[in-house]
Amino acid sequence: MKLLKFGGTSLADAEKFLYVSDIIEKNKNHEQVAIVLSAPAKITNYLVNIVENDININQVLEQTELAENIFINIIKNIKKIQSCFLYEETKEIIKKEFNQLRKIIYNFTSLKKYPEHIQSIIMSRGEILSIEIMKNILISRSHLVDIIDPVKNIIAKGSFLNSTVDIQKSKKCISKINIKNNHIILMAGFIAGNEKGELVILGRNGSDYSAAILACCLNANLCEIWTDVDGVFTSDPKKIFNTCLLKSISYEEAIELSYFGAKVLHPRTIKPLKDFNIPCIIKNTFNIKSKGTLICKKNNYDVNTLKGITNLDDIVMFAIPSNLTQQNDNLISIILNLFKKENINIILITQSSKNNFNFCISEKDTRKALLLLNKLYQLESKDKSFSDINIIKNLSILSIVGSNIFQKYNITSKIFSSLGKSKINILGIAQRSSTHSMSVVIKRKNVLQSIQTIHDELFHNKQIINAFLIGIGGVGKSLIAQILKQKNFLKNKNIEIKIRAIANSKKILFLNDSIELKNWKKYFKASKEKFNLEILNKLLKNNYFVNSIVIDCTSDEMLSKEYTNFLSKGFHVVTSNKKANTSSLKYYNEIRATTLQENKKFLYETNVGAGLPVIQTLQNLFYTGDNLICFKGVLSGSLSFIFGKLEENVLLSDATKKAKDLGFTEPNPYDDLSGIDVARKLLILAREVGYEIELEDIEIEPILPEYFKKYKNTEEFLYKLKEIDSTFSEKVKKARNLGKVLRFVGTIEQGGKCSVKIEAINSNHPLYKVKNGENALTFYTNYYQPIPLVLRGYGAGNNVTASGVFSDLLRTIL
Ligand code: ADP
Ligand code: ASP
Ligand code: MG
Repeated sequence: MKLLKFGGTSLADAEKFLYVSDIIEKNKNHEQVAIVLSAPAKITNYLVNIVENDININQVLEQTELAENIFINIIKNIKKIQSCFLYEETKEIIKKEFNQLRKIIYNFTSLKKYPEHIQSIIMSRGEILSIEIMKNILISRSHLVDIIDPVKNIIAKGSFLNSTVDIQKSKKCISKINIKNNHIILMAGFIAGNEKGELVILGRNGSDYSAAILACCLNANLCEIWTDVDGVFTSDPKKIFNTCLLKSISYEEAIELSYFGAKVLHPRTIKPLKDFNIPCIIKNTFNIKSKGTLICKKNNYDVNTLKGITNLDDIVMFAIPSNLTQQNDNLISIILNLFKKENINIILITQSSKNNFNFCISEKDTRKALLLLNKLYQLESKDKSFSDINIIKNLSILSIVGSNIFQKYNITSKIFSSLGKSKINILGIAQRSSTHSMSVVIKRKNVLQSIQTIHDELFHNKQIINAFLIGIGGVGKSLIAQILKQKNFLKNKNIEIKIRAIANSKKILFLNDSIELKNWKKYFKASKEKFNLEILNKLLKNNYFVNSIVIDCTSDEMLSKEYTNFLSKGFHVVTSNKKANTSSLKYYNEIRATTLQENKKFLYETNVGAGLPVIQTLQNLFYTGDNLICFKGVLSGSLSFIFGKLEENVLLSDATKKAKDLGFTEPNPYDDLSGIDVARKLLILAREVGYEIELEDIEIEPILPEYFKKYKNTEEFLYKLKEIDSTFSEKVKKARNLGKVLRFVGTIEQGGKCSVKIEAINSNHPLYKVKNGENALTFYTNYYQPIPLVLRGYGAGNNVTASGVFSDLLRTIL
């Protein structure tokens, strides 16, 4: 005999009922089957709505009608698909059941709340009707059916709403029923009867438990739980990404997973199956080909493996301070016994300082627990204040489950480091004596993010970078394109970059997992979310993930002033914006201090020489003991181009215009020719090698006479430039006669004196050949002399800059 249980998700509509009846028929061809059914999806929720609130007759009747309509719709549609279905008979039963329900409801309108025995009757109507519908589907297909009444045969004790079954007594009852071999056995899940023959229920999700009990009572060789997922996964597949299906788990692991919240199984389901050594398979009604998850005795091949991560939400932690426990040695056992007697489940006792006693219960039991404790303290010690007990609400218990997990894996350190990196506080830690699980208590709002992070780390060894990109000009756009292009390459290296938000100065787009990055432009265009610093700070505060990074691809000064703030919030900062590193030395140092304090990275490789590996190379040299003797470099792509052209006898005004047309210059080329940009880069280099200077300390020998400042209009500026063409041609000629070329050079001398100016460079110098937009940086250091270290290549352009930002991004985790 095989037992098959179908959950509410498998019975949500007419098609699903018929699908389930097909599965039943198929199985019946091989051996006798017993079927346990839940209520169709959502029905129990409507019924719970009726009983859980204070009685409001209109609302109650509304919920009743909603539930009734679902049933009527189901049978109407069954009739449409299977014309022989006993529609009228079933409809009559449904009507009768709901009329009776209304009668009960009217009988209790004078009360504020329904008594518990009535609540259990109301809540169980869904299961009763599921059985009636399935019975009539099967009968209309000419099957013979026996129905087991759970109230008479599944004997339970405990409260009306959460009873526990006495298997031996139930087995005796069921053995007395005369069941014919060729009959299909049907029983409503969720329901049992107490010693007095009254209807009780087994707690939410209790049909799984009913199925296990009936399997034991009927000596079934297998218990199949059919649901809407392929089996037991390493975490809830509907909430966590990249979960893995578990082929098999031991009874103990299944007990632990369900106890700590894996909703796929009711927590009390597995124990009876384990006691009777009946294997259990979790299967998917909608994917019958999938083999599912086998739950059986521990097999030796599969020891020491991690099985899953679960969560229990709506948890409250009570912290009884040590002064109270010290006063009375027995206090802890008194509390434990009292709670047990009053049916309050202490889910977890957590470790804390020596004599503190912390325990977690479900939030719904808080009031009852408080009343009990209050009473207890009044009895135990009249002078001790009850307010000494600390109650922390809105918590979750996150548990890691597996066999002997502490022997093989450095689980604890991985969990703590993941949560630590995510800035998530652990309020309590507990290890069950079974060694099959360990749990931490955290705030509820953090639970899904924590599970995802720990899951990625423990099961995939995967690193995720969460990027918030500000600035989508040329560099920002190229960066997104490069990230998209590299997706698969990085995936093979277990790295995933998730861009969580994209912003420009006006608006922002939040990307969730339903938005594919490749379509970002379309979504960005459609986004109506405004962007400003306040909104950004709010966003970052509420969206912290491990490895979260703010990328600044703007040239905005205000944004650069926020870096310390971002770092303090736990974000790394990657920037191509030079404003922070060229602002006051005070802010420059503040950023460095914050990165150390927060253990975060501040990366700005593209501030000098775009994608050229300048900053990192310098840092590596200086970390390993080198010192700068002096530096000379061509640090501007536009000036490299213009001075290269002068050498080919092109006039200054023509060369500048050409550079502008090719997109090498700022919108107004004056900004390039003023030399200020080169001075900024030089300042960054000088500070990098340890000179504490400000921008004003850099001597700039201007390329242009002072009066050019006033030509704000680009056309006018380019026109006026002609006035100095001849002076420049003269200078070029003079240099050529000496075998030299003109270059606009930034210099750092020993001692830190910095200057930017036009220099005549002779043919032996590495800067002699640097033109056409190339940059070159020559470092004379203790290690690199007399031949300097030279870094040379394109020092501007969207692609090289974006690739520099991209490699900074990867450096945050590598
Ligand atoms: P049924 O109506 O069949 O009883 P439930 O909704 O009670 O279905 O249980 C199935 C659901 O359990 C799945 O849809 C899934 O979202 C959830 N679930 C939670 N944890 C897990 C897990 N570790 N593996 C599989 N499913 C899980
Ligand atoms: N229908 C009940 C519930 O929703 C029992 C079950 O589905 O297992 O809790
Ligand atoms: Mg269920």
